Amino acid sequence: MNVDLHCHSTVSDGVLTPDQVAQRAHEHGVNLWALTDHDELAGLALAQQTATDLGMQFIPGVEISVTWLNKTVHIVGLGIDYHNPQLIQSLAHVRSGRAQRAHKIAAALADLGIEGAFEGAIPFASNPELVSRTHFARFLIQQGHCASMKEVFATYLGDTGPAYIPMQWASLENAVRWIHEAGGVAVIAHPGRYDYTTLQFDLLFDTFKALGGQGIEVVTGSHAPAQYLEYAQVAKRYGFEASCGSDFHGPKEGRIDVGCLPPLPTGLHPIWQRWI
Ligand code: AMP
Ligand code: MN
Ligand code: MN
Ligand code: MN
Repeated sequence: MNVDLHCHSTVSDGVLTPDQVAQRAHEHGVNLWALTDHDELAGLALAQQTATDLGMQFIPGVEISVTWLNKTVHIVGLGIDYHNPQLIQSLAHVRSGRAQRAHKIAAALADLGIEGAFEGAIPFASNPELVSRTHFARFLIQQGHCASMKEVFATYLGDTGPAYIPMQWASLENAVRWIHEAGGVAVIAHPGRYDYTTLQFDLLFDTFKALGGQGIEVVTGSHAPAQYLEYAQVAKRYGFEASCGSDFHGPKEGRIDVGCLPPLPTGLHPIWQRWI
């Protein structure tokens, strides 16, 4: 089985359209695929149609932005009903602060001597409701201010960077509830990326478990290989099902291309057993 349960399209901050991502997943041998755009379901119908035409099994997904202990956590929902009115409405609310935030990011960059970042980032964003830090990053790279995404986040846009604008996203409780009420399973995305203490991580996993959260990403393009084993242990300790996804955003971005993931460590319960 070639499984990839975390990918982005132009509907959020990816560079390929939903059908192009489906095509690329198919070319890379994917059998079971999920599109998981940030806070938005608009790409799922086209992704599903294309995936099905290509003979892939499709899992409708979403990656919800959450604020927990004043930091951003991403919760992936898999197997959701993308016609669920409450989920659609709630995600529209989550997205609603992004336009204002984009202006604030541009103002912060202007203070640092980088003019025109709002106008510069917009052409990279296909969805006007979903202007993301990634779109600013692509503008900064295009203009030669940074050489890579990594450098952009380290220098300007990361959570401690000078152009970081804090956001209040969804609560963990609401995100998990919306996913469950839309018939999906909730998965903690790329836990290795969060800057929490050990005690805070324990509290995150305990709280997520108590809310009925089912899964955790173990193998992801957002983890270094050493973190696969670390989060395999967490999955076992908490009884979470294990997920894997490239977190693909574009052909030249990220560590792992769609459909090019190594296998899960042994002794785990793959979350996709629910669908095969
Ligand atoms: P936003 O939702 O606008 O805050 O943007 C978050 C997005 O920025 C994530 O989904 C990633 O695609 C990207 N991102 C965040 N941190 C990094 C990083 N350190 N390196 C590369 N991309 C990142
Ligand atoms: Mn992203
Ligand atoms: Mn994420
Ligand atoms: Mn992602």
